[in-house]
Amino acid sequence: MSTIYDKYETVIGLEIHAQLQTKTKAYSSDRNEYGATPNTNVSVVTLGHPGTLPLYNKEAVKFAVKMGLACESGITEDMIFARKNYFYPDLPKGYQITQDETPICTGGYVQITDADGNPKKVTLTRIHLEEDAGKSIHDLDPFNTLIDLNRAGTPLIEIVSEPEIKSSQEAYDYVTEVRKLVRYLDICDGNMEEGSLRCDANVSVMLKGANKFGNRTEVKNMNSMRNVQKAIDYEVKRQIDLLEQGETIATETRSFNAADGSTISMRSKEGANDYRFFPEPDLQPLRVSEDYVNKVREMMPPLPNQLIKKYTEDLGLSEYDAHVLTENKEVALYFEEVIKTQKNYKSASNWVTVNIKSYLNEKAIEIEEFGVEPATISELIDLIEDNKISNSVASQKVFPLLIETPDKSPLSIAQDNNWIQESNEDAMSELVNKALAKFPAKVEEYKSGKKGLLGLFMGEVMKQSQGKADPKVANQLLMKQLEK
Ligand code: ADP
Ligand code: MG
Repeated sequence: MSTIYDKYETVIGLEIHAQLQTKTKAYSSDRNEYGATPNTNVSVVTLGHPGTLPLYNKEAVKFAVKMGLACESGITEDMIFARKNYFYPDLPKGYQITQDETPICTGGYVQITDADGNPKKVTLTRIHLEEDAGKSIHDLDPFNTLIDLNRAGTPLIEIVSEPEIKSSQEAYDYVTEVRKLVRYLDICDGNMEEGSLRCDANVSVMLKGANKFGNRTEVKNMNSMRNVQKAIDYEVKRQIDLLEQGETIATETRSFNAADGSTISMRSKEGANDYRFFPEPDLQPLRVSEDYVNKVREMMPPLPNQLIKKYTEDLGLSEYDAHVLTENKEVALYFEEVIKTQKNYKSASNWVTVNIKSYLNEKAIEIEEFGVEPATISELIDLIEDNKISNSVASQKVFPLLIETPDKSPLSIAQDNNWIQESNEDAMSELVNKALAKFPAKVEEYKSGKKGLLGLFMGEVMKQSQGKADPKVANQLLMKQLEK
């Protein structure tokens, strides 16, 4: 059944602010650290005292270039910074130093998967460098708002997308992808709960096939991926309901209310925000040479999409496995270590995505806290490959002991517990002959067509070997004897 909501299509553009993990702030040598005692990382430069001079942070520039390269953006060669003037209690300078007409990166894209499962490139408008404001704290003191200026001057990149995102699910996937990128690049911890990655969603709706976008609202204050999705869902429904009642959508900024999943009006955009941008007079123009960009390019770590390509095309893994392996950078790096010494990629992938991951889930820990070295997992796989232990002994017996005693080798664990399976052909032939000698009548029956008796002989071989016979070898030898 189609509803009024099916008549409309959704248009979304996202603005993501990512706090850069540099040692010092964007334009001063104040330390850039989360969780320090309030107002301890605040010098006169951060406060914008007259006579002080900002200086741009080279590390922040490098981080922005890395993000631009990861998104295949163009990197601007010559740029200036700009002052964006506004009053806010946690903005001590009375202006923010940002980039206006010359963002450090332009164009490029972030790749997601659309509703039909096809790859979709969301175009980026720009990525620019700027600084964060301080923090107003409203819930510590019953009567006053407290201000912590430690965050003032923290370097940010703002990543602005074109309005090409079509659903709250695509928005969710886009933010997930951006978070994955900044984490792979080691430029931001991507923590939305702590606010180091923040997303503003610009949302509008229009009748399907319309050639003009509807009025948009900009929703702020979502502190998780799920809340980005919820806020958009709420906004889309609210806007369609209004339009269906013949109302128009006010262009405004709205705030997401996590308590009930709604959005509420914060301020109108009409005629507001005259930030009086002008070139920041205290900062030199910045030049990012082609040489420099090439140097940064050489330092780039492998990125999720490159790894997915490598895993599917070079290693022959499935699309699904490749995605699971690269969802988390540390897991991907662990896998990369395993395959340095392990050529059975499918098995290596299974060990990481199934055995290790379920153990991590069960213990609710991250792979960084997992004590078994990747090389040791590779040794364990070798034992299976060499038919020394079976897959089930490896996963159910050796693996748990390995976790308890990660310094021991899988081989010594298997030996100490007498789990090495017998695959030596001479020793096995003896066992096979013994087993057959025990049931001469059954052997005759088998030869006259009762093939189901093979199980009986196998059982006897396993029993005589105390469960250590390699089933594959035992089977082969039995068949050889019986078909004689
Ligand atoms: P502002 O300076 O007010 O933030 P911008 O033009 O820079 O405005 O746009 C900000 C974001 O809004 C971009 O991500 C852009 O893609 C998105 N956007 C613009 N128009 C619309 C629209 N009609 N619906 C949804 N998003 C839009
Ligand atoms: Mg905006």
